[in-house]
Amino acid sequence: MALMTGEQYIESMRKMNLQVYMFGKKVENVVDDPILRPSLNSVRATYDYAQDPEYEDLMTVTLEDGRKINRFLNIHRSTTDLMNKVKMQRMLGQKTAACFQRCVGMDACNAEYSTTYEIDQKYGTKYHENFKKFLEYCRENDFTIDGAMTDPKGDRGLAPHAQADPDLYLHVVERREDGVVVCGAKAHQTGIINSQEVIVMPTIAMGPDDKDYAISFAVPTDTEGILMIIGRQSCDTRKTENTTLDVGNAEYGGVEALVIFDHVFVPNDRIFMNGENEFAGMLVERFAGYHRQSYGGCKVGVGDVLIGATALAAEYNGAAKASHVKDKLIEMMHLNETLYCCGIACSAEGAPTASGSYLINLLLANVCKQNVTRFPYEIARLAEDIAGGIFVTAPSEADLKGEVTGPWVEKYLKGIDGVSTEDRMKVMRLIENLCLGTAAVGYRTESMHGAGSPQAQRIMISRQGNLPMKKELAKKLAGIK
Ligand code: SF4
Ligand code: FE
Repeated sequence: MALMTGEQYIESMRKMNLQVYMFGKKVENVVDDPILRPSLNSVRATYDYAQDPEYEDLMTVTLEDGRKINRFLNIHRSTTDLMNKVKMQRMLGQKTAACFQRCVGMDACNAEYSTTYEIDQKYGTKYHENFKKFLEYCRENDFTIDGAMTDPKGDRGLAPHAQADPDLYLHVVERREDGVVVCGAKAHQTGIINSQEVIVMPTIAMGPDDKDYAISFAVPTDTEGILMIIGRQSCDTRKTENTTLDVGNAEYGGVEALVIFDHVFVPNDRIFMNGENEFAGMLVERFAGYHRQSYGGCKVGVGDVLIGATALAAEYNGAAKASHVKDKLIEMMHLNETLYCCGIACSAEGAPTASGSYLINLLLANVCKQNVTRFPYEIARLAEDIAGGIFVTAPSEADLKGEVTGPWVEKYLKGIDGVSTEDRMKVMRLIENLCLGTAAVGYRTESMHGAGSPQAQRIMISRQGNLPMKKELAKKLAGIK
């Protein structure tokens, strides 16, 4: 099958039998739900732009056998591939100002590709073959794959097997001739309601006592036993209020869910790791590394939109010429481009794995993500500074249109001449959406905790930073023997 159009993707999701709950009720029509639809639209953009001649080169990859696939299903074969991935993510961030959700699957695929190869080398297992077969199937159908890593973790001070409730980390509960049965959950799960398949991975390095937890596999998202509970977002129900203005970004968004795996059966040929606990750490490190690289693209694209919205707000307020405003916009751009530099640098410094696929430079990818835990917050702070308080105190669209209130809102929320009050309110709502509305989940808190919380990167930086080498350099120059 060729690449799917955006419409074909939507229709393929419509055929899925997902078990989704929100606000205590089952969602019967996930595809058309007003709160969930913007997240589907974001993934749809990854299909639409792949069909657009202007973005085709960035969005697709031609394989050695001549087949054209969506870049989200690519196994990176060079540093150019790694850089193009980041460029694609920045572009999609610019177009959606949201999490387009498909990167977790791409990053999971690349982590699985090289790790399964190395497990097989050591144990003579068939995981790499299983994985390649799964990937080919997804490429044939141009599916969206999700990548699920984060377990609920219960008592953070205890290993998986030592938890009071054994399900707090996803694990094997039954071993059968034809496969395994798993129980557990994955939290904060991006993309799960918008994907046809999900790759499940362990969330931490594991010891020999955690063999049942060292399990990785892929299953369709509507497999029996999988249940999704949608996470609440600040301002989410505005999407049901028959207003586009108050939503800020009516077209695109992202959602996360708590995903329950209640006795889910996984057939043998869909298993990519099963008890090889010493490889759990490698899979985690590689997936996290790729996803930390990803943020040097997607968050930068969203940052571009926020900077643009802030410049417009300054203009509509009549403050664009103030030197401090100009300087703050420069600072925002500097911070944003610094993140992009990190995304590009860890890609340019990538290297081949034993399987032949390319891995980013892990030290630089961790530096990238560490900066992402800080800079979007500063960019958002400057956006709020320049926009002014009106972006959180403006009346609603209904008031702007109201018989009694309309003329007053129109008159007193006016900025400069030549720009309508409505346009000024629109840009303020977009800033609100990104800084503290539904999109802040992706732009702010996900920047902090997504792909691992700040301390996880600091541990990697301390491991990869090579302090002994640096001490040697100093000793030599200081003449210390
Ligand atoms: Fe992709 Fe960014 Fe969303 Fe992760 S947060 S899935 S990298 S858009
Ligand atoms: Fe993420």
